Amino acid sequence: MAVTNATTRVPVNDLSRAALALRAELSAAFDRFLASGRYVLGPEHATFESELADYLGVAHCVALASGTDALELALMAVGCGPGDTILNAANCGGYTTAAALSAGLRVRFADVDTDTLCLSRETVEAALIPEVRAVVITHLYGLLAEVEEICDLCWERGIVVVEDCAQAAGAQRDGRRAGAFGDAAAFSFYPTKNLAALGDGGAVATDGDETAERVRRLRQYGWERKYEVTLPGGRNSRLDELQAAVLRIRLGHLDEWNERRRSIVRRYADALPPGAGRLVWHDGEDYVGHLAVVVLEDRERVRAKLEAAEIGTDVHYPIADHRQSAWAGEYIDLSLPVTEHAVERVLTVPCFPELTEDEVERVCEVLRGL
Ligand SMILES: *Cc1c(COP(=O)(O)O)cnc(C)c1O
Repeated sequence: MAVTNATTRVPVNDLSRAALALRAELSAAFDRFLASGRYVLGPEHATFESELADYLGVAHCVALASGTDALELALMAVGCGPGDTILNAANCGGYTTAAALSAGLRVRFADVDTDTLCLSRETVEAALIPEVRAVVITHLYGLLAEVEEICDLCWERGIVVVEDCAQAAGAQRDGRRAGAFGDAAAFSFYPTKNLAALGDGGAVATDGDETAERVRRLRQYGWERKYEVTLPGGRNSRLDELQAAVLRIRLGHLDEWNERRRSIVRRYADALPPGAGRLVWHDGEDYVGHLAVVVLEDRERVRAKLEAAEIGTDVHYPIADHRQSAWAGEYIDLSLPVTEHAVERVLTVPCFPELTEDEVERVCEVLRGL
């Protein structure tokens, strides 16, 4: 049998590297957790909520079981109810759409900006109808969207704004972090996110006392206090105490990891010859390099080149929400030209803080040759 020349693969992501880099701290936290006798809604959980709120500069963080739950409960808590319409982008993986439909809401799609691939004031304005009760802005790939302008537009019209910060933990503009702009914000701590648990997790951030209180009730059966249900729509969506302990440790490293992600994408941007493609990023603190995404006219050719060099790739995301077979029926006549154009051209290349310099260089080499 032929022995292939052993070039190790550059993975799109390798979660064990981040886990093992903090092995001693994580193991100590696990031992404390084990002995504590508090496995749900204990002291680590409460402290994590307040540390995250301080980090984001918001009054409240309410920890939950996932980012999708955070989107759903945030929408319910800001006042969206069955039959209300929300507006969101169709190129962000379908999480908001799934969450909204699960809450009995109707979903309308706006197109995205050509450069940022996020909603902009212009694309939101073009898609608004009087029925829209809330706009969900996803800070896609770690890039803080034009959120101030969208908030101005929406608030003038009495529309609430929810930020989806699952990919943008730590991004900031003028000293304000992603999650501190809208009426409420959803975070995910899924293991691949910039701020990641070793399992599922999420949170809602908000300055609204009542919004936070409603999310707190909704995450625990609608209880106002034990066994007393005062809010309909409740369920169990709690963040485990162990995941809260992991997240407290990792929150302390978030800014440094985000800087490393940015520096990797900066290297890719320098390597990419003019005209070969375009990275969706910004060289500033309003971008945290969640995913390194290149827009390419000839994606399949480039993908094959990277794969031939043993470099992992992925596509975020290959199917727009309004073309997902589960949902498409309602949107047959809807056309979103920028979204549909991007879906065919986006390619994700490896970007996570523990990539080695050699690995980054191997990706750069292929990019330089495009
Ligand atoms: C990951 C992600 C979510 C969903 O988070 P889960 O914790 O997996 O439910 C929502 N929105 C965006 C943009 C995401 O990337």
